[in-house]
Amino acid sequence: MKALVLPKLGGWQDLVVADVPAPEIRRPNEVRVRVHTAGINHLDLFILGGLPGITYAFPHIVGSDAAGTIESVGAEVTGWAVGDRVMMNPGIGCNACDLCAADQQPLCLRYALLGEHVPGTVGEYVVVPATNLARVPQAMPWAEAAGFSLAALTSWRMMTGRARVRAGETVLIWGIGGGVAQSCLQIAKMLGATVIVTSSSDDKLERARALGADHLLNHAREDVPRAVRALTGGRNADVVVDNVGEATWQKSLRALGRGGRLVTCGGTTGPMVTTDVRKLFWYQWDILGSTMGGDREYQEVARHAFEGRFWPVVDSVVPLAEGREAFHRMADGAQFGKLVIEVAP
Ligand SMILES: [Zn+2]
Repeated sequence: MKALVLPKLGGWQDLVVADVPAPEIRRPNEVRVRVHTAGINHLDLFILGGLPGITYAFPHIVGSDAAGTIESVGAEVTGWAVGDRVMMNPGIGCNACDLCAADQQPLCLRYALLGEHVPGTVGEYVVVPATNLARVPQAMPWAEAAGFSLAALTSWRMMTGRARVRAGETVLIWGIGGGVAQSCLQIAKMLGATVIVTSSSDDKLERARALGADHLLNHAREDVPRAVRALTGGRNADVVVDNVGEATWQKSLRALGRGGRLVTCGGTTGPMVTTDVRKLFWYQWDILGSTMGGDREYQEVARHAFEGRFWPVVDSVVPLAEGREAFHRMADGAQFGKLVIEVAP
């Protein structure tokens, strides 16, 4: 089958479309999906350069998100049939341990992510356990379906399971051009929060307003902590979403109110941050790490998509032959929303 692959560790410039063996169903609980569209995430850029403790089999198929139609089903699969329109939770647990039973697949010792620990989604076929599937709403285009899963699931756990955002609270979200940031905005609004978003682009800020953002801060021009203090009558934010890392961590803490929660699922500008322990205890902050989500959480968030409450914003769609350009656009930070690769029209 044709797939976008990384022949060796490197960068987006190294990606090529190649013929590789199609994945086969190996366990009776699995399905094989004919991929129509695949979505890429910032995570994929880190994968290109290699991640600690992960060994790839080259050529490595990239990508974690996909949507398509079921092509074949394993012997023990129930509730799914050939031809069903599906999208998928990219995280696969062992589904045999106590953590998986508690919907904590991301903490499972055998947890694997499509495109990271196992072959990815930017290819004509992908094999996943049927428990990872969700139906694609009839009204949802393939591009939106491809961009939904990783960002929506990650954001769902960040906003509900970890930061436990409540109605009336104020949430600050850095860098609203990204898929997780936009999903966090949409979920926080669904939960009844007031949301402040930042970007260095006035254009991206205006587009975030259309997604429901209450206050827009251009972090290239404005002192974000000072602005947040003014917007909250001196109380600061109840929740800060910081996936930026080194460049924003100190500002995030300055913008965080007493009893506040800082939640992070990444550090795009660098991983090493410092926190003054005196402020941590005195203000009784919670600093919360979060990644991905469980199969039941995935069904919850997919239900919101089904009921039309939130869909991802798609930045652009390119054909498989130009898949490398989608990575280039993400590396440049030019996108607003999801970058999607059409694998098979
Ligand atoms: Zn497990």
